[in-house]
Amino acid sequence: MNTNELAAHWMPFTPNKGFKAKPRMLTGAKGMYWTTDDARQVLDMTAGLWCCNAGHGHPHIAEAIARQARELDYAPCFGFGHPLSFELSERLARLAPGNLNKVFYTNSGSESVETAMKMALAYHHARGLGSKQLFIGRDRGYHGVNFGGISVGGLTNNYKAFGQWIPNDHLSHTQDLERNAFSRGLPLHGGVEKANELEKLIQRHDASRIAAVIIEPITGAGGVLPPPAGYLKRIREICDQHGILLIFDEVICGFGRTGDVFASQTFDVVPDIMTTAKGLTNGAAPMGAVLAGDHIHDAVVDTAGAGVEFFHGYTYSAHPLACAAAMATLDVYEQEGLYYRGAADGEIARYLEQGLHSLKGLPGVVDIRNYSLIAAVEFEPMAGKPGATGGLIQTDAWEQGMMLRSLGDAIAMSPPLIIGKEHIDQTIGILERSIRQHFG
Ligand code: PMP
Repeated sequence: MNTNELAAHWMPFTPNKGFKAKPRMLTGAKGMYWTTDDARQVLDMTAGLWCCNAGHGHPHIAEAIARQARELDYAPCFGFGHPLSFELSERLARLAPGNLNKVFYTNSGSESVETAMKMALAYHHARGLGSKQLFIGRDRGYHGVNFGGISVGGLTNNYKAFGQWIPNDHLSHTQDLERNAFSRGLPLHGGVEKANELEKLIQRHDASRIAAVIIEPITGAGGVLPPPAGYLKRIREICDQHGILLIFDEVICGFGRTGDVFASQTFDVVPDIMTTAKGLTNGAAPMGAVLAGDHIHDAVVDTAGAGVEFFHGYTYSAHPLACAAAMATLDVYEQEGLYYRGAADGEIARYLEQGLHSLKGLPGVVDIRNYSLIAAVEFEPMAGKPGATGGLIQTDAWEQGMMLRSLGDAIAMSPPLIIGKEHIDQTIGILERSIRQHFG
């Protein structure tokens, strides 16, 4: 990589100056491992950005994309269609819980979020309830980077330079280090109590102004926070009592991350609208899908006159290459049993849980939490530098041959669902060395 090449790329979500002083380059990937430009094999404990659930370079997915590129490279989906997108929609509707039977395609998680929010507004508008325009998100929630998503998101850095332009308010996050630190699986304390905060927000704004609540079943980028037991069900109840829609952002949770096809099934709560992306194509092609309840779709489509009912869509919605990637990915998840492999009470999730919790008691470790194959270890903040410890541990792990995500003072793991016990042993070894090195 020469300096002109390095200078030309303004990298997203990256300290550009730091990166360019010491680039970390990936040149290949297979199964659980990346190859780097200096020919090292690095264990991928994050499935890329929480997306390569079947591991890297799966031949079935690669071939499906190549075949599709030769057969039908592109098809507009405004007023025209191609059969694969309808097959995929029917398949996703079959996999989804409840009446989430209508599939709308996007190219990313952020676009799925904007689409879901616009669907909620369109639904209320179609029913003569156009005053319902405010969205309730959650502190530490992450819903992508577009204007709707940063308005309902709860990570300050993502909106402080840009504003939050969609009417919003936020529930507090659900982490409770006093009562729930080192919980295995769902934290036990405070679920219903935390969810009841929603009633206060409804009193503050009035249900006649609130369109929807949007939450990640497990908060991901905000630090991996599994919901305390009973939380999601109580949120659903309150939404129902007040005519407020519930949107689940399953961009991370979908496609096996919680030991089911969707977290909605794991936690037995059906939202009105669900966003997905990432694992839908195993990260091999950009694609998102929003699954809407029949009632949402029917209210918008049936109430409209002839002509376009929902003025929304993307040039690349239902892109043929992405549809081919998604169909092949779903084949792999089914054939290799990956949706259920990481079940919280299953062998591999338990092995990861045991391994991680064996780190309890090491210096500097203030919390370890996990559900299924998603986990985080949180550290004491460094004096004068809050939020920096995760990055130090991440850098150290990278040098020792493992990719982690750093989230403030925590590191997160969301490995490919094909992970074996040997990879978990390797992970625990590297983590233990890094932690001892930093905290002595
Ligand atoms: N929602 C959630 C829950 C996410 O985790 C992410 C990405 N990490 C997004 C939305 C945004 O997805 P994308 O980066 O594909 O736009």
